[in-house]
Amino acid sequence: MAEDTGWKCKHCGHFNTRTNICAKCGYQYGSTVMQEENMSQWKYIFVTCNHNEGRANWVARYINGQELPDWTTAPTMYEVSNQLGGKGWELVGFATSEHAIRLVFKREK
Ligand SMILES: [Zn+2]
Repeated sequence: MAEDTGWKCKHCGHFNTRTNICAKCGYQYGSTVMQEENMSQWKYIFVTCNHNEGRANWVARYINGQELPDWTTAPTMYEVSNQLGGKGWELVGFATSEHAIRLVFKREK
């Protein structure tokens, strides 16, 4: 039973059962620092798509604000979403206006 109520020190490996301060090295279990270490961290990609009349499709034009060299041959919104999705980027948001669709993708760091 006692084994279930203790915790193993992340810093030195000592198994503690009494307090949240490691008896061997003084590491504080459950401190703010430790919670931040355990939180997921995210990075984002912003893709702005414009409608290309010639291709009759929405096409990726800007990625993180950088205009693609030739957006008339750039991947369509569908293609860029699948390319990023295949690399672990999840579409988490989008915004539409008359001339643009902006997509936001996120992935764990
Ligand atoms: Zn310790």
